[in-house]
Amino acid sequence: MKVFDFEEERIKQEIAKVKAKRVLLQLPEGLKPEAPRLAKLVEKAGALPLVSADPCYGACDVATSEAEALDIDLILHFGHAKMLAHEKVPTIYIESRSTVNVDAAVAQALPLLTEYNKIGLATTIQHVQTIDTVRESLVRAGKVVVVGDAGRLNYPAQVIGCDFSNVKSVASDVDAFLFVGGGKFHAVGVALATSKPTIVADPYDETAYSVDKEAQKILKQRWSSIQETAKAKTVGVLVSLKQGQQHLDEALKIKERLEKMGKHVLIFALHEIQPEITLEFPTVDAYINTACPRISVDDASKFRKPILTTNEFKVISGESTWENILKKGLFEN
Ligand code: SF4
Repeated sequence: MKVFDFEEERIKQEIAKVKAKRVLLQLPEGLKPEAPRLAKLVEKAGALPLVSADPCYGACDVATSEAEALDIDLILHFGHAKMLAHEKVPTIYIESRSTVNVDAAVAQALPLLTEYNKIGLATTIQHVQTIDTVRESLVRAGKVVVVGDAGRLNYPAQVIGCDFSNVKSVASDVDAFLFVGGGKFHAVGVALATSKPTIVADPYDETAYSVDKEAQKILKQRWSSIQETAKAKTVGVLVSLKQGQQHLDEALKIKERLEKMGKHVLIFALHEIQPEITLEFPTVDAYINTACPRISVDDASKFRKPILTTNEFKVISGESTWENILKKGLFEN
């Protein structure tokens, strides 16, 4: 069973500190089942809890406009570390660290790291506190361990879905990366961002495996989407309405470039970028997504039309080459 630290005492103190009457709870999908229990805690602390049932994918996705509309005094945003510089509504980030032991998963990973000597570490906010223990285990196994800290994220070795600056900062010093955490999403990101062999040590399943095949498959798919988009006559540029993902200026620049290339361009504004958009606007041949790049990369097979990241668009516009993008890392601008 997954166990997370929801800092319940801190929640009560923060509610009292701002004398909150209405509190909006926002949790990513994996933590949503905890919402009823946490809502009860908020109620006991003297505030009215409202639970956001919308998807929440990252710290870029704080429900500020929803909170403003509901006259909320405090947002409790779970599962992510602070990312946005300012919030219009007081927002507390509950990082929701996992208390699961990672030793067994790391032990499972060791045989997969046999041919590598220098290992870089990567993890999510839920497991950053385990990095020293993981480092010790690897050193005991005779490895040289490198932990990157590029200064952009809150903790050394931390990665988020679109920021791999920590692993990239040490990629040239390591033979492979070990990612500690659940699922493939972040580990595939490490492989795509660094082009290094990447092994997952999943403490929830106590398993370890490589994600290199997945990363290779994605790269092939991305190149084919770029080629298809180059041939498109009508292109949609997607602008997110989420505060932390809204890049209208960038969308306008992309529109201008596409028009110079003789393409017809439409800008679409939306909260959730869902595959249905490709059915609703059948005359659009391809999309450029100025919001979360992982939608383009991870959900490509669900969309019926190519949907490029802004980085990939640079191949079409001639600002970069595919080789350069691969060298810099798929998510790096
Ligand atoms: S843009 Fe996407 S990957 Fe980046 S933090 Fe937001 S949801 Fe996560």
